[in-house]
Amino acid sequence: MPLSEFELIERYFRGCGSRREDVIIGVGDDAAVLRCPADAQLAAAVDTLVEGVHFPRDSPAQSIGHRALAVNLSDLAAMGARPSWALLALTLAEAEERWLAEFAAGLGALARAHGVALVGGDTTRGPLSVTITVLGHVPPGRALRRGGGAPGDAVFVSGTPGDAAAGLALEQGRLPACEQAERLRRRFLFPTPRLALGERLRELASACIDVSDGLLSDASKLARASGCGVELMAAALPLSAPLLGAVGTSRARELALLGGDDYELCFTVRPNALERLTSEVPAAEWGYTRIGTLQEQPGARVLGEHGPLEISSSGYDHFAGA
Ligand code: ADP
Ligand code: MG
Repeated sequence: MPLSEFELIERYFRGCGSRREDVIIGVGDDAAVLRCPADAQLAAAVDTLVEGVHFPRDSPAQSIGHRALAVNLSDLAAMGARPSWALLALTLAEAEERWLAEFAAGLGALARAHGVALVGGDTTRGPLSVTITVLGHVPPGRALRRGGGAPGDAVFVSGTPGDAAAGLALEQGRLPACEQAERLRRRFLFPTPRLALGERLRELASACIDVSDGLLSDASKLARASGCGVELMAAALPLSAPLLGAVGTSRARELALLGGDDYELCFTVRPNALERLTSEVPAAEWGYTRIGTLQEQPGARVLGEHGPLEISSSGYDHFAGA
């Protein structure tokens, strides 16, 4: 017998994620009622994943559940906020129990890892699409912004960008399977929102953005919002061993700059705060790398070993004669 909407919600989404004392009324009533701390500001973000657009058709359900929450948590990480609650609007072609169990397991595991409670949502029938709203907290006036950077600020990125784009290419069969395939695929299927790093950066970074569209594009957005330009050094890009093994240096740099879906943090630090960053948030422990500098000249530039690289959306080429 097909699952009713009520049963579906009860079975898979009530109690999904962490149990939190500040949830006065959660799943099951007409709206959630949540207790807000008196000394914090609310941070809110929403993102939609549509099948065939944001993830391949027939992606593992566990990954869809994980990613739908991860992309939202990543937005809160970029603000230096700590997540508390999530709402899930799920559109499904059919209520298939195995799919739902795996989806809820993926979402629930990531939610529990970050102390997030699923407090409500909506369930409708239609082509597969997942919208999650996350709510979190940030100390008053302390949220990280895209627009706080200034010329001379050092530019950093966490993790190893490019892995997720290679992982997606492997998923879609655009890149032949190789020894490193599983590790790269996992970087696409199960991205890690950098929440702890975002909170640490609150007092240290001048600006921050999460890398969803591609490092170059997102660093450019940060620079533009900050009223400056950005110069990145190709040789400084942190490329993972699996990525280098799978595609080689040149293509790896291209994927790191232009690929998307990394959900790492790109952030800037004033020269006079660099020492504090190094001592309070050591790079070796937190996994971030300096990749460039903000500049007065608007726009985004990438410096290769032999001069500037010309970038187009399909990749980049060395300047002729440079
Ligand atoms: P209403 O029609 O009053 O909005 P629904 O039947 O849509 O009620 O939802 C009943 C309860 O289940 C509400 O508390 C709602 O927030 C919750 N809910 C519905 N769908 C989901 C979902 N996919 N995930 C989490 N909670 C959900
Ligand atoms: Mg409803």
